[in-house]
Amino acid sequence: MIGSDDVHVIGGGVAGLTAAALLARDGARVTLYEHHNVPGGCAAFYQRDGYRFDVGATVVNGFGARGIHRRVFDALGVELDAQPVDPAMVVHLPDARVTRYGDERWLAERRAIFGDAAEPFWRAQERIADRVWSFAAGLPVLPVDLPSALHLARIFRPEHLPLLAMQGRSIASLLPRDASRRLRAFVDVQLLITAQARAHDVDLAFGATALDIAREGTYHLAGGISDIATALARAVRRHGGRIRYNTDVARIHARRAGVEAIELRDGERIPARAVVAAIPYENVLAMLGRAVPPRLRTRQRWGAVTAYVGVPDGVVPDDAVLHHQLVFDDAQPLGEGNSAFVSISGAGDRVRARGGGRAITVSTHTDVNAWEDARAAGTLETRKRAYAQRMRQAVERALGTRVDPVVFELGTPFTFERYTLRHRGMVGGTPQTTTSANLRARSHRTDVRGLVLCGDTAFPGQSTVGVTLSAINAARALGAATV
Ligand SMILES: Cc1cc2nc3c(=O)[nH]c(=O)nc-3n(C[C@H](O)[C@H](O)[C@H](O)COP(=O)(O)OP(=O)(O)OC[C@H]3O[C@@H](n4cnc5c(N)ncnc54)[C@H](O)[C@@H]3O)c2cc1C
Repeated sequence: MIGSDDVHVIGGGVAGLTAAALLARDGARVTLYEHHNVPGGCAAFYQRDGYRFDVGATVVNGFGARGIHRRVFDALGVELDAQPVDPAMVVHLPDARVTRYGDERWLAERRAIFGDAAEPFWRAQERIADRVWSFAAGLPVLPVDLPSALHLARIFRPEHLPLLAMQGRSIASLLPRDASRRLRAFVDVQLLITAQARAHDVDLAFGATALDIAREGTYHLAGGISDIATALARAVRRHGGRIRYNTDVARIHARRAGVEAIELRDGERIPARAVVAAIPYENVLAMLGRAVPPRLRTRQRWGAVTAYVGVPDGVVPDDAVLHHQLVFDDAQPLGEGNSAFVSISGAGDRVRARGGGRAITVSTHTDVNAWEDARAAGTLETRKRAYAQRMRQAVERALGTRVDPVVFELGTPFTFERYTLRHRGMVGGTPQTTTSANLRARSHRTDVRGLVLCGDTAFPGQSTVGVTLSAINAARALGAATV
């Protein structure tokens, strides 16, 4: 496609921006259409009263020597200063506080908290993760099909063979039969944020890797995680691409011969033969005028409730760990405020808190059905108040002190729907279960010629790191070189 056609990219999240930048670097005439007035989607920022909040994603990975963001930025000739942070986070369980170190301190920490009986689990998890990281460094394309087979054959090494035998197994199968309630709660809540499901459902290879991100490396960016998107947007423009903000794509027109045109919300019809849909698959189906099949294999499962909390100087100690995960009651289901993730801007970071203090983003998994029901029943405001209370409790538990915020704003699935247009405000992409991960994932290829997919509903799934691989695969399918 490169050199012969314009390429149209729908969506300016990390996936769309990465695909657009790589295609533009390789000479394609790229136009990216973005609904919002800033780049980043679920990994964007917004500003309020001197604070700059990450809107959804907060934990930065992928900047190590073999990290995928690092490789993309090097390939694009873009500098981004990512500083390693260790520990990656603190996990507050009902009866324990677990510091998630990335280095050898993790060994002593896990032994002290989970006991020696859990060691075979951790050692097996790390062995599997090492194999997956090594395989991932080859930038795999899954699921296997004819065009990807050659690439997979090139990158596949004998040490990756055991990964094939793991298909269909869950990470829970690795846990000791008599695993403590504490270990199960820890593994479940960590997987909920990295794989969107609990241990019993999460694919073994994916789960082992999802439990390994602290070891692979966590990073800090001065402006928050949205620095990734803003740097990518700069790269798109520097390589000659165009970004049209505040511009919605409403339809993709396609016939048997493939994509013919895209249509903007204002009715403008733009002839197109190469389209990257960097939006959830459910949104793509709607744009094609197709219904979402009731048993869609890669259906998204979750929404998020978020809170954006600005606190003045002196509330958060300078040496506080920046990310905290909490479980209040491990006998109750996770999400809905019973588990939450709290991320804090760095000490002295005046980009995120202009007048001093800290910008805090809190999030919890939520069922979007319940929000839609509450709106229909007229009980939305009551529901919002209840969640605001829970989010505040999460911040106070993470910080270990009472908090009187200067700014406090709540986001619901409706907020994500409004700002990202994601189907029903669902976020986090496809849960990485034994029936939807890796070999069973949704491909970046579609049944429409010229239309490729990327983002967190395509292989390999959620996170800025995951969607970057999906974007590389989409860009390569349209003729871009690799990174
Ligand atoms: C609360 C929360 C916490 C998270 N935490 C982390 C984390 O700590 N670390 C991490 O790595 N990941 C995290 N994630 C996941 C991560 O944010 C996403 O997987 C990733 O950012 C998705 O990128 P994307 O480009 O696929 O989609 P999106 O970010 O959803 O981007 C899609 C873009 O397309 C635009 N768009 C949609 N429809 C149209 C249209 N019709 N026309 C024009 N534009 C359109 C939207 O405005 C949006 O900008 C989190 C997500 C959430 C919600």
